[in-house]
Order: sequence, then C-alpha cells, then structure tokens
Amino acid sequence: MSKINPTATLRQPVDLVAHGLAPASDLAVLEKVAACYAVAVTPDMAALIDPDDPNDPIARQFIPSVEELVRQPGENPDPIGDQAHSPVAGIVHRYPDRVLFKLVHVCAVYCRFCFRREMVGPGKATALSHGAYDNALAYIGAHSEIWEVILTGGDPLMLSPRRLAEIMADIAAIDHVRIIRIHTRVPVADPARVSREMIAALKVGGATTWVALHANHVRELTDGARAACAGIIDAGIPMVSQSVLLRGVNDNAEALEALMRAFVECRIKPYYLHHGDLAPGTSHLRTTLKHGQELMRALRGRVSGLCQPDYVLDIPGGHGKAPVGPNYLSQANSFSRESEQFEETRYRVVDYCGDVHLYPPKP
Ligand code: SF4
Repeated sequence: MSKINPTATLRQPVDLVAHGLAPASDLAVLEKVAACYAVAVTPDMAALIDPDDPNDPIARQFIPSVEELVRQPGENPDPIGDQAHSPVAGIVHRYPDRVLFKLVHVCAVYCRFCFRREMVGPGKATALSHGAYDNALAYIGAHSEIWEVILTGGDPLMLSPRRLAEIMADIAAIDHVRIIRIHTRVPVADPARVSREMIAALKVGGATTWVALHANHVRELTDGARAACAGIIDAGIPMVSQSVLLRGVNDNAEALEALMRAFVECRIKPYYLHHGDLAPGTSHLRTTLKHGQELMRALRGRVSGLCQPDYVLDIPGGHGKAPVGPNYLSQANSFSRESEQFEETRYRVVDYCGDVHLYPPKP
C-alpha cells in the first residue's frame, strides 16, 4: 500500500488529485460535488487510505464521488426532521427529557453520508451567535424536564478547549441538567486535538459527561485514536460508540465484528449502529434494512453482548429513533395448562444459529 502523507487537511478536489486520492480525470465533476457538500480529509484519515484500492473503506467515507449528484425519491435535506423540532436556534427538542444543542457547523472531516450535510461545512452558518447561544441556554433553563443535553453539530470538539469549558460550565449550572453528552469524530479524525486541555474542558462540576465516538471502520481506531480515547476515559469520562451502516465500508459481518470488538477493547461500549439516513446524494452508501437485520443476526452469533450495538432507524420527519431488529420472537399459539384457568402464549424464539425453538417448550 502506498502512503498518503499530507501535512494539512485536504479541502479541495485539486488537493485530493495532487495527493493521489482522486484521478485527475474526475476533477471537474468533483468540483461540482464540492460546490454542494463540504470536503475535508485530515492527514490522519488520508494516511489510512490505500490509493491503490478502488474500494478502500476509508476513502469511501471521505473522498467525494460523482454518485453524490444523484438524488433519489425520499431523500431530504433535513432527513431526520431536526427543523420541525427546533423551538429556538441551536436546539432540537424531540424527546421530553433531552435536547440536542448544535453549537458549531464545522467538522474535522466531512463524511460523504452525513445526515446534516446540507447544514455543515464552510459557507454554512458557523457558530451560534451570542444572542442565539443565550436564547438556547435560556430554553434549556426554562424546561425542567431536560435531564440530558447532547452537544452535536458539526463537531463540538472543533471548539477551543477554553470555549468548550465555558459552555460546559454554563450548561452544568442549570440544576436539572444532569448529563452532558458530546458526539464527536475528532478522536479518530484528528486525535492530536484531544489535548490535556481539551480533556480537562470535558469535565465539569454539576453534571456527568459522556462522550459518544463516531467511527465506522476498525482502521479508524489507530494507535493515536486509541490513545485519545484512553485519555478521555482515564479522566473518568465514559464513552459509547455510534456507527453508520455503510455499503462498501462496514456492511459485512467481519467488518462489523472487528469494529465492535475494537470499541470494547478501547473501553467504549457499542451503542448505536445507525441505518443510513435519507440524506441527499447518499443512496450509493445505504444498505437495505433487510441486510442490516441479517448483519445484526450474524453479529449476535459472533460476538458477546458487550459488543452488540442497537441497530436503529431515525424515522424521517423527526419521529425519533426506532430499534429495527431483527426480531427473535414471534407468537406460536395460545394454550391452557390443565390446572390453570388462564391462557398462556407460546412463542417461537430464534437462536443465534437461526434454529427455531418453542418457549415454553411443549411438555
Ligand atoms: S463528523 Fe458528523 S456532523 Fe460532521 S460530517 Fe461527519 S457525520 Fe456529519
């Protein structure tokens, strides 16, 4: 494998071509894609790409492709309905006890499948204005049912440690907020950003911090990424994972197994495996729900419960997440025991090999 070693984040198609990450013949069309959706490939991610492999799972996540110009019916710039649940700028309030707080619209890398791809990147709104930030805090303060604040974006770890510490303190000062969860791709995309100061900024009195790491392929968990996560966890901050099921990246049992095992080895509990959202120009990266269920069934047979994420679908329109299986239980029949007055239900339950059993078993 030849090595790509840029010293700075690659942000233009011409830079991708110069570093051998895209063919020169694609330049014009990639410029078209980049005019719609932001491009950024950090040196850490570029170094993981094998330019000789046309199916490289890291390249597939970050190198733009002509297929992004294809729109499928049902794709939507706001695929999970953030806007319908945004009472004030920066806040999405979908479930009673928690809100999303979208602080910034920039990321270390821009993922080609991003469900907020119409909202993130240079040229989109950057950070919340002072006034909007104050309004968002006031909203959280006025809603005593909000137990958890989820910082997302963009990537909150693109803020400076000083600013992040101020924000953490502002949120933790609200009595009813007990949990601050931070969703980030920075520990894999740019592990050097996870400095001692950044880790200190994540800790705050008055609330418990959780960090959710977004990674989709085991190769993203480099030594640097593992060290960054260890620094966070050693500071007493628990971590969970979130991944997106992506065609050509992790849509086979071996890739998912390796990823989930690596998370657990890093002390990161697998949390969500997202079915791909209906974001514009992402159909080439989506799988079917049926295939996702088959993979989850395979995973159940290959790795322990510790390594199992929930396979979830964000229902378009802002109706929240639903676990989407597979289902291991179906009703077989009803029966009565001789000595009992009431009816019981007998179920068919499927084991990890796919064999079906009755529960309770027939006498
Ligand atoms: S890091 Fe997250 S918000 Fe940023 S482009 Fe990737 S998926 Fe989207």
